[in-house]
Amino acid sequence: TALIAVEGLTKTYPGANGARVKAVSEVSFAIAPGEVLGVVGESGCGKSTLGRALLRLIEPDGGAIRFDGKDLMTLSKSGMKAARRDLQIVFQDPFGSLNPRHTVGGIIGEPLVVHGIGTSDSRRARVAELLGLVGLPEDAGKRFPHEFSGGQRQRIAIARALALEPKLIVADEAVSALDVSIQSQIINLIADLRRRLGLSILFISHDLSVIRHVSDRIAVMYLGRIVEIGPAEAIMESP
Ligand code: ADP
Ligand code: ADP
Repeated sequence: TALIAVEGLTKTYPGANGARVKAVSEVSFAIAPGEVLGVVGESGCGKSTLGRALLRLIEPDGGAIRFDGKDLMTLSKSGMKAARRDLQIVFQDPFGSLNPRHTVGGIIGEPLVVHGIGTSDSRRARVAELLGLVGLPEDAGKRFPHEFSGGQRQRIAIARALALEPKLIVADEAVSALDVSIQSQIINLIADLRRRLGLSILFISHDLSVIRHVSDRIAVMYLGRIVEIGPAEAIMESP
């Protein structure tokens, strides 16, 4: 059975002359445990709105999101906070909005603090483990995000997203800001983590050449709708 099943998800924004812009329109799909679903489509087609709506970082107008046995659309704020332990998101520019005075260790360990998990010592141990998992040196914890390259900062963001052992990660253009050679390193890391941890991933990218390397299935979005969905090979072959 599916880890997440989305039915008829819709999100509109206010547009010109009182009209509504349908950013996401009647979108339905499911992701199995351990599966990677790629979402591809040109800029503005609704990918990011879809990704954020799954975590209710953006409030959908309608539709159903069933995740790990829970109906996310009917959860209270605190229920949603609890559900987000299992449902994490990685953004294109993870540290644009974070306080640059927080250490990398503090950033990676923060979700554990927020959810009241462990002691200071056990959190430190977990942070060290997470740094190893994403291929960063242990002393990275004492340093600051701006001391790291773009690719390494994305490793930090992935470590933070993994801190609570989520079941599903939404990767929203997570490699799009990186040089091509660094992109492939991060894609390889994501593929490796997915194998080792049995993660499910919704992998959003405007770039089909990125999507094809990580996805089991691909959903193609156009003007807010999924216009095609199927095994990666089938989508790559279609005209
Ligand atoms: P993508 O991630 O594929 O580039 P988005 O989800 O960012 O697409 O945007 C989908 C559509 O919704 C676009 O037409 C965009 O202009 C519009 N949109 C996105 N965010 C907002 C917002 N906060 N207010 C109004 N319109 C928005
Ligand atoms: P605290 O005041 O608890 O240290 P922080 O927000 O700085 O709060 O850090 C959050 C958690 O991340 C800490 O509880 C700690 O376990 C872990 N942490 C912080 N700094 C480091 C570091 N340099 N190396 C490893 N883990 C760290």
